[in-house]
Amino acid sequence: MSLITVGTMAFDAIETPFAKVDKIVGGSATYVAYAASNFLKPVQQVSIVGYDFPEAEMNELRSRGVELDGVEIVPDKKSFFWSGKYHTDMNSRDTLITDLNVLGDFNPIIPDSYQGAEFLMLGNLMPKLQMSVINQLKVRPKLIVMDTMNFWMDTAMDDLKQVLTKVDVLLVNDGEARQLSGEYSLVKAANKILQMGPRFLIIKKGEHGALLFHDNHVFFAPALPLEEVFDPTGAGDTFAGGFIGHLAKTKDISFENMKTAIIVGSAMASFCVEKFGPERLKEITKADIDERLAEFVQLVNFDIDLV
Ligand code: AMP
Repeated sequence: MSLITVGTMAFDAIETPFAKVDKIVGGSATYVAYAASNFLKPVQQVSIVGYDFPEAEMNELRSRGVELDGVEIVPDKKSFFWSGKYHTDMNSRDTLITDLNVLGDFNPIIPDSYQGAEFLMLGNLMPKLQMSVINQLKVRPKLIVMDTMNFWMDTAMDDLKQVLTKVDVLLVNDGEARQLSGEYSLVKAANKILQMGPRFLIIKKGEHGALLFHDNHVFFAPALPLEEVFDPTGAGDTFAGGFIGHLAKTKDISFENMKTAIIVGSAMASFCVEKFGPERLKEITKADIDERLAEFVQLVNFDIDLV
């Protein structure tokens, strides 16, 4: 069982109401890989970095079963750089800088050794590149999950809509679901988005959990109430990594199993926000994950006697 993950590997500068960091490793594919590699190996990464991306980070990923044959290293350019500032509620943020750098001329090439993967995670990236990856796969994966963000809706909406026709699951946050559909009600937004291609839609609502839509069904996964959210950066990608990691591990892509998968995604995201960047994800063990999943079970477990 293998999983291809595509996305950015980056440096981020992050400012929250409580702390600030000028340069930390980030990127959509980095977070997905750290999360998913807890559930299956190999995770086959496709991305691009510049001369400045730390070799130690690459080795850390390799040691977790992340294959980097599909990660291009450009010797004379800098890695993708993103900078964001969170509002006091930590659920919303402003993007301050997006420096594409190496991403500007990225042309992802899927290594032969990655062909035949049954799961594909299209992390947040230019929609054209997400499409190019789909087109290069000789056998369509059993499940294609796609993440995106408002930046691409603002700059490449037509391309994004093309990719939507090719994927099974779309992951967006509530603001992005509204922007994509033009509907304020999330139920109406979901109905419209499900007409655009994906059979499943996940709408993430930060500290208010996530909704999974499929046909006329909807399922809700809470976020774990945490005393302190230190840095929400990467929570969405980490959620995605936990979600697809669980599906790939269990090889079951039913709606029922996706319910479990969004709980797993929420549990992984709850770790991510506890420290800056992917730091916390590097510390956790299987026992930590199991313990947190048990907390989620308790969070939503109740009896009711209907008379
Ligand atoms: P998240 O908080 O889950 O939305 O993910 C944040 C990560 O996405 C950061 O580590 C950034 O490096 C990366 N990122 C930010 N903007 C973009 C973009 N336009 N395309 C791809 N990745 C991005």
